[in-house]
Amino acid sequence: MKILLVDDEPFVLRLVMHQLKELGFTDVVAHQHPRAALALLESDVACADTVLLDLQMPDIDGVEFVRHLGRLAFQGSLVLLSGEDERILQTAQKLAQGHRLDVAGAFRKPVTPDQLRSVLGSPHPTGARPRMTARIYSSERLRTALAQHELVNWYQPKVDLRTGRVVGVETLVRWQHPVDGIVFPDQFIPLAEEAGLIDGLTAVVMQGALRQARSWLDEHLDLHVAVNVSMDNLARLDFPDDIARSAESSGVPARLLVLEITESRLMKNPLVALDILTRLRLKHIGLSIDDFGTGHSSLTQLRDIPFDELKIDRSFVHGAHASASNHALVLGSIHIARQLGLRTVAEGVEDRADWDHLRSLGCDLAQGYFIAKPMPGAAVSGWLREWELRRPSLVAA
Ligand code: C2E
Ligand code: CA
Ligand code: CA
Repeated sequence: MKILLVDDEPFVLRLVMHQLKELGFTDVVAHQHPRAALALLESDVACADTVLLDLQMPDIDGVEFVRHLGRLAFQGSLVLLSGEDERILQTAQKLAQGHRLDVAGAFRKPVTPDQLRSVLGSPHPTGARPRMTARIYSSERLRTALAQHELVNWYQPKVDLRTGRVVGVETLVRWQHPVDGIVFPDQFIPLAEEAGLIDGLTAVVMQGALRQARSWLDEHLDLHVAVNVSMDNLARLDFPDDIARSAESSGVPARLLVLEITESRLMKNPLVALDILTRLRLKHIGLSIDDFGTGHSSLTQLRDIPFDELKIDRSFVHGAHASASNHALVLGSIHIARQLGLRTVAEGVEDRADWDHLRSLGCDLAQGYFIAKPMPGAAVSGWLREWELRRPSLVAA
């Protein structure tokens, strides 16, 4: 891996150079003057796989440097370093991502060898960005997919942080494309919304989820099943009746059903949505406010809609123990939820540190790769057996 290090302080340059060498990285070029580093990149943007960049420099500062990297369409990964507070680092990171740069990490100085190892870990360049290679599908193709049953449900467990008990699952739709393989929802949900296919899609996902819930009940597994619902689904006044009827004919009690709602675009008719959501609650169907804390899910919604579950967005959850601002947002969300009598779910629990942190904050449920990745319905009972073996060590003390 070729590393380019840019920092105006000679001492920091020497220190980081030394740390990199200790970690086994030998192909490192260090520059004290950002203009010189930039000239290097101007002549060959692929001269580095990774750029380690200080944000405070005289001459050209880190933000300007990031802008130039964006202009040059730098394809490697970027690690930001700063002596300033963490919020500045986070803002710079957002900015870099806005320029479509691959930000591998952002650290306050002095950076530790462990931090460097965590972002540089493998000696291979981190060029792979699978989710960005978006394929564009036509609405016609998606319509065919729906008709030909190419959409399948996967399920991701939600676990009680105190006891480790599995409370339910979230249904996550996948498109099993005959040529492209598994296609993730970010690549077709917005299309379904725009093309007016979201009602049909939700109905298909819901039917599958109810069928799955019923077969779990037959195995004496009393799992809540959550289905993602788009605001666009909340435009027809008979939506609650349809859902209640489907649940009943599938033999699934309404109380096991949860709808996770994100406001992906502006509510067209807030009054209709409110009518629908209130009637869903009257039918004892659970309502969850998804991606809480992101621009889409606002305090106003929390006030006006009778939610009973709040999902803290994964962008705040993972690593919150090491980030003062994310920690504050997670804690604030838990407090708000508790005041309003809502259950809290942390999504994006990716490691043991996240798990322990959320547990210590009194969050109710956790969901994330640390517990399980989304999986086909048939894999869930096998996973449950493994989870029972893991569980005691996670809830001790
Ligand atoms: P979401 O509702 O926020 O779902 C959680 C997403 O986070 C899922 O992505 C899941 O695979 C991913 N995830 C879970 N644990 C972790 C973790 O520990 N780390 C990280 N980095 N990610 C994690 P997925 O399945 O790609 O779904 C993306 C979004 O697509 C969902 O976000 C949801 O908004 C939407 N979606 C999925 N299925 C449906 C559906 O049936 N209908 C509608 N309207 N939207 C859906
Ligand atoms: Ca969700
Ligand atoms: Ca979410």
